[in-house]
Amino acid sequence: MAELGSPKKTIEIIKKFDFIIQKKFGQNFLIDSNVLEKIVKEADINDNDLVIEIGPGIGTLTQYLCEAANEVIAIEIDKKLIPILNETLSDYNNVTILNQDILKTDLEQLINNKKISKTVKVVANLPYYITTPIVMDLLESRLEVDSITVMVQKEVAERMKANPGTKEYGALSLAVQYYCEPEIVANVPASCFMPRPKVGSSVIKLSRYKTLQFNVEDEKLLFQIIRASFNQRRKTLVNGLYNSSIKNLSKIQIAEVLIELGYLTNVRGEDLNLEAFIALSNKINRI
Ligand code: SAM
Repeated sequence: MAELGSPKKTIEIIKKFDFIIQKKFGQNFLIDSNVLEKIVKEADINDNDLVIEIGPGIGTLTQYLCEAANEVIAIEIDKKLIPILNETLSDYNNVTILNQDILKTDLEQLINNKKISKTVKVVANLPYYITTPIVMDLLESRLEVDSITVMVQKEVAERMKANPGTKEYGALSLAVQYYCEPEIVANVPASCFMPRPKVGSSVIKLSRYKTLQFNVEDEKLLFQIIRASFNQRRKTLVNGLYNSSIKNLSKIQIAEVLIELGYLTNVRGEDLNLEAFIALSNKINRI
């Protein structure tokens, strides 16, 4: 039975191992069993799933995942947490603990080595200082991940889900929505963590499309264009693309493409939805 997930138990473990919470690793441990149950329920974990957990901490969420999944791989950067995890997870024979930096981990190799016919799901209470690179790596990798259910800063969850024309809308919204359908499944107050983060948190579920939804001629170019369009937010698309030397096009060439697509030449990145960026990138690709 999962026994962690309360302030009392968390303090007990921390004291027992003389563990010092590391701010630099974004350590905010979950201490609310309702939130833990909600994450596992929304991630829809079942006994055919291989779950990758990023940053197990003292193993609180990991215990819940081990109970529900077929197998769990938990990747933790802080070596001081490994003896703690070895103890808190000692009752489970379906967990592998790896002392590694997730950003330097080859997940594809890790999963292929297992030769599994399981569904791969990522579940985590993410370290907030590297949320975006972790999520971007997962999205851009060729990993067959069914879904990514993660606790992130509320503001980041809103950016992932944002629509054109809003202040939250940007490159992250487009990357997430290109690969996945995002859904915010819970808002979580700071009181559910130890120590309390200074910001509000949300659990977001990114369900990956089984087949790509869009006809993109050159994905790399599409994301170059998206990044260039939001690099300098207040700049027009013409200036943004020109300053990033997209295909070394002149301002006039860029303006012509925009006019052909039916835009005014002062259009900005935040005015274009994903389909519009794809049409723009396909057109630029053919120049
Ligand atoms: N899962 C635990 C929980 O919910 O209580 C801990 C979550 S805490 C927000 C983030 C965890 O990620 C910490 O344990 C931290 O040490 C770990 N972490 C930070 N950077 C990491 C990285 N680059 N690779 C793997 N783990 C990392």
